[in-house]
Amino acid sequence: MSVPNYLLSVFSNKCPRCRKGKLYRTNNPYNYKLVYDMHEHCPVCDLKLELEPGFWYGTGYMSYGLSVAFSLFNLGWFYLIFGLSWEGNSLFYYLVANTIILITCMPLIMRLSRSAYLSIFVKYDKNAASAAH
Ligand SMILES: [Zn+2]
Repeated sequence: MSVPNYLLSVFSNKCPRCRKGKLYRTNNPYNYKLVYDMHEHCPVCDLKLELEPGFWYGTGYMSYGLSVAFSLFNLGWFYLIFGLSWEGNSLFYYLVANTIILITCMPLIMRLSRSAYLSIFVKYDKNAASAAH
């Protein structure tokens, strides 16, 4: 059996151990009340998702890092399309556009940061899915 892709499982918010179970109860991150509504245990391999009390506080660093990386990515394509300078106000427009994009994508980034953070501490186990049942 093939190993599910690591990045794909992180970006699709899958459990890092079995890479099959969903981390979140709802698929839509834009339901703001449920943005952090996670399963306590992976529905497929039964991994306890909050590894220790307060585990998710560490995701603050992850979401900060992802926001910076995302801003740099936006800077890249903005530069390629519009160029950047203070004279034409394009740098100002970039800052405005980037802020709007970041706010719009924040639920995605929040979820992705938990998924990525958890994947640092939990390694893939090809037997996890079958062992739990
Ligand atoms: Zn799992």
